[in-house]
Amino acid sequence: MKATGGISEMPQVTEGPGAADSEALATLHRIFGYEAFRGEQEAIIEHVVAGGDALVLMPTGGGKSLCYQIPALVRPGTGVVISPLIALMQDQVDALRALGVRAGFMNSTQDFDERRLVEAEFLSGELDLLYLAPERLRLDTTLDLLSRGKISVFAIDEAHCVSQWGHDFRPDYLALSLLGERWPDVPRIALTATATRATHQEITQRLNLPTARHFVASFDRPNIQYRIVPKADPKKQLLAFLRQEHVGDAGIVYCLSRNSVERTAEFLAANGIEAVPYHAGLDAGVRAAHQSRFLREDGLVVVATIAFGMGIDKPDVRFVAHLDLPKSIEGYYQETGRAGRDGQPSTAWMAYGLNDVIQQRKLIQSGEGDEVFRRRASAHLDAMLALCETAQCRRGQLLAYFGQDPDPAGCGNCDTCLTPPETWDGTIAAQKVLSTVVRLQRERGQKFGAVQIVDILLGKRTGKVIQFDHDQLSVFGIGTDLTEAEWRGAIRQLLAQGLLAVEGEYGTLVLTEESSSVLRREREVPLRKEPKKPAVARSRSAGASGGGSKAKVAAAELPDELVPAFEALRAWRTEQAREQGVPPYIVFNDATLRAIVTLNPASVTELGTVSGVGEKKLATYGEGVLAALASLDDPADPVGSAPAAGAAQGTDWPEQDEEPEPDDWI
Ligand code: ADP
Ligand code: ZN
Repeated sequence: MKATGGISEMPQVTEGPGAADSEALATLHRIFGYEAFRGEQEAIIEHVVAGGDALVLMPTGGGKSLCYQIPALVRPGTGVVISPLIALMQDQVDALRALGVRAGFMNSTQDFDERRLVEAEFLSGELDLLYLAPERLRLDTTLDLLSRGKISVFAIDEAHCVSQWGHDFRPDYLALSLLGERWPDVPRIALTATATRATHQEITQRLNLPTARHFVASFDRPNIQYRIVPKADPKKQLLAFLRQEHVGDAGIVYCLSRNSVERTAEFLAANGIEAVPYHAGLDAGVRAAHQSRFLREDGLVVVATIAFGMGIDKPDVRFVAHLDLPKSIEGYYQETGRAGRDGQPSTAWMAYGLNDVIQQRKLIQSGEGDEVFRRRASAHLDAMLALCETAQCRRGQLLAYFGQDPDPAGCGNCDTCLTPPETWDGTIAAQKVLSTVVRLQRERGQKFGAVQIVDILLGKRTGKVIQFDHDQLSVFGIGTDLTEAEWRGAIRQLLAQGLLAVEGEYGTLVLTEESSSVLRREREVPLRKEPKKPAVARSRSAGASGGGSKAKVAAAELPDELVPAFEALRAWRTEQAREQGVPPYIVFNDATLRAIVTLNPASVTELGTVSGVGEKKLATYGEGVLAALASLDDPADPVGSAPAAGAAQGTDWPEQDEEPEPDDWI
């Protein structure tokens, strides 16, 4: 076994069948304090330890880090990790040091002396892991340095950054193909959570990994509950969702524009929820401060554009909410995947409406890029819309998209499984919408957006209806059998099904080739019913007990009597983290705290059996944890209390400042 810094003198844990014959497993127990490998981890680690190249596709939270950290610890030399996330390197290294692993990084945030120190440590073989940004690796000085030391493995994290089609392209990643030429004997492992076949192939090619073994893990995230609700008043819906299900929880809210990020963060803060904005338009210092608060505080909400999140491996993000439609399923899955890395129940919640469809279609049409790009973007959007409109299991649809086999019986932990949507025969409604579009065009030579179409169907004499004499059309008022929300829902679904299209800058509605088959009554149009009350509110535990075989979420809610102990440990953890200037999860994550209070250990040895408590952490924190637990036994000094559960119903909401809908014009 290779020495690993401060813990090398400690006795090795070799209990348990088979533990002694695998150095990798011994390292897992001793350093990380984990019982067993998850899924493909063991096979991957074995392959890389033996010197093989690997391409690892695993969802966010799947446990990619161990796949290169353990080979780096077991093989002689330093593991070099290429990561695009300079802002997070310090935390990554701190987390490893807290485990007793000798880790360092080199990036532009360091001064000369700090860098020299890391270089010296590397050259004298005192580092297990060295983190580098790709732009630094390219430098001749860095390559020279690396040539003078001993390297155990190259790990290329966030490997999809090499893909030019992806949204995270980093030109410096292209230079990484040289690693294989310069260090033919050092194994390379590329890791990503982006799973589509195209990205997969591009990574293999561009990183020059022709003989790498491919490990494709299951992309299922059973602890995440997927829900998509019709958008009515998104900020209010979000607030209700947070108040009813995520009081005091950390989470991320994604919005499309900087403006809506700002307004949503202000709205939440005004309603008593601690929230900060994050987008590319903010000053870099403010951005870094908000990110750091998110990592270091319990229960902060970040409202962000997609600029936020890559590499944020905070394990206890309890929800990810989308107030706007993501551009692709890949994006949606990566963003939602940031919830629940610790395996505890979490929610992926999205509000989605007609304007999302129209806005995204307009963006594609009026955006930059050639025809190929547009077609690709359209295909991405179509897949995303199909997910939103499905009456089948959402998880099933997601897994199928990534080429994996879903459980045909459904997952039991998504909205469509928990509350199967009703469908209705929307053929006549579809004909009414399409006829209105046809008549405007044929009889008047006009094109309008959805608002005007719905007003005509409902027979509303609005200013604009009168201005254009639309009350004279034969279709005027033929749709009073449905409500406005139902018409908007129908139009949204027609767009998603390709039976209607959006055109031009103003998002006017036009027919597609498929439309005529509906008008000629050659096909039926099944539609999902719009729920009467759009805000679905279900407690997390109720959702969990909905009972999918794979939804291993039942254990997550602590029994009431253990909550004070959990809160006491959280308070103790915050204190420790503050003293050391690290995020609380680096001390222990929530899952480990839960396991500790459930076991209620009486001794340090017993505490050491808890998953996530390795040797170094046991030595550093063992006594402190026991003392924090013991202080609870003193009834005169109750520590902590359960967070207020349930929603504050009937609260006054401030006025909304919604933007007018821009989708209606000639
Ligand atoms: P990824 O990089 O794939 O998003 P991480 O490597 O951050 O995932 O792992 C996610 C979480 O799972 C971390 O908190 C990690 O410590 C934990 N974890 C990983 N492997 C195991 C394991 N074998 N047993 C228990 N916990 C694990
Ligand atoms: Zn399901």
